[in-house]
Amino acid sequence: MRLQFLLSVILLFCNSVLFSQTNVSNPSKSDFSGTLSILASDLMEGRGATQKGGVMASEYIASMMELYQLVPYSVKSGYFQNFKIREHTVKKTSFEIIKENRERFVLSPENDFQVTPIAQSLQKEAPIVFAGYGLSLTKEGYDDYKNQNVKGKIVIVLKGFPGHQDSTSATYQKFKKLLPEENNLEEIKLQTAINKNAIALIIINENGDYKPKNAKENEIFHSLENPTTTSIPIFKLSKSAAEKLFSGSGISLESFEKDSTKKIKSSSTLLKKTKINFTINLESETFPVRNVLGMIRGKDTTKTIIVGAHYDHLGTINDTIYNGADDNASGVSGMLALAKNWSESKIKPPCNILFASWTAEEMGLLGSQYFIQNFDLEKQKILLAINMDMISRSAPEDKTHRVLSIGTQQGSDSLKEIVTFSNSKLPKPFTLDLWETNGHTGSDYASFAAKGIPVMTYFSGFHDDYHSMRDVASKVDLDKIKDVLFIVNTSLLRFIANMP
Ligand SMILES: [Zn+2]
Repeated sequence: MRLQFLLSVILLFCNSVLFSQTNVSNPSKSDFSGTLSILASDLMEGRGATQKGGVMASEYIASMMELYQLVPYSVKSGYFQNFKIREHTVKKTSFEIIKENRERFVLSPENDFQVTPIAQSLQKEAPIVFAGYGLSLTKEGYDDYKNQNVKGKIVIVLKGFPGHQDSTSATYQKFKKLLPEENNLEEIKLQTAINKNAIALIIINENGDYKPKNAKENEIFHSLENPTTTSIPIFKLSKSAAEKLFSGSGISLESFEKDSTKKIKSSSTLLKKTKINFTINLESETFPVRNVLGMIRGKDTTKTIIVGAHYDHLGTINDTIYNGADDNASGVSGMLALAKNWSESKIKPPCNILFASWTAEEMGLLGSQYFIQNFDLEKQKILLAINMDMISRSAPEDKTHRVLSIGTQQGSDSLKEIVTFSNSKLPKPFTLDLWETNGHTGSDYASFAAKGIPVMTYFSGFHDDYHSMRDVASKVDLDKIKDVLFIVNTSLLRFIANMP
């Protein structure tokens, strides 16, 4: 009897030692419901990155990280990674076609063109090259830039790809395979033009005349104070404006499109005796912002796993508070709950775990971009970047609220296996929508995916309250968050257990 008792005590002891080394409890509702309510409360004023509410949210998140005894990321600035972003207002845009003998056609920004500017004012006059569909797939033997130097020139291209007008054609079939739906075609064309040193890209809208979404004069956009990547502006041109541009060039866009369906042939042409003159005038203002970062140090501090979620939302616009409960108080409260449980477990993980709350996601993933641009990937390896963005609601068609979307990089089969395994351990597993992040820029995962870092991004469904004042705390589904966090936590544990 005694011996048996003793044995069972020893067993229990061994068990608890083993258990404490390999287990981190899954977040319960009380681990995240309070932080979610505070972040989504009117007190936080919608957490606009450049507004007071953003500062308050960052202070609050840092205080929670301190409470959970995370190690501040920076020796100098503690839990904060401070940096600056610029807010640009487009004041004026112009676009002129200059023909032989200086004949000028002035296009109207309301009816003829729309521009996606870059983070600086520009005034340029340059020759123009027609480069078919703007694709340079040299490995596949197709190059719209063949025999043409477009350095310092403006490139004009068609929408779509060869054969896109006729889905029964062999050309269509070939290019559909080369350029599947999940690739962002416009981004590919832009990158190609940048790589070829063009100074602007024009895309012809072949579906009749261009009608702007809203002819608002003052368009506002944001950038990092010092963007490290080069970019060029994109002009979208109406068909009638494009016709003016091509008049007298001997090129018929219609027959070019028809011919390209019949025969795969790449070609580019300098539009002789034609130049474009464009201006983009911006007014820019600088704002200080910050990411909030806390760590659990691992055995090997040269390797890191990131668990991140953006804390910023739309802020207060015309006295209306956009609370952003799902987008993304849900993800931040989930991140904090995981931080709490990992910290309380006292486990020393095999590598660092960085709990991150990004700012200015809504302004173009600026917080995560700044972070990765200033992270020394030579010295420090990021093994995995987990992202949670909107994890508390369900799409209207998801009647049982049991669909969960998880994105990973192409070829991340082991990560897909891990999340599928974790999901199967739930009493009521989700229907998983597993997808690949190729070319998408939907949330902060994209900043890491672009650097080739494995990612895992969680999203619980698109709903009608997205980016509206109706995205409030009373509508979040706490059960869903709890189950999402179960998958994140189980996957994290399994990922770590599989580490060499
Ligand atoms: Zn979001």
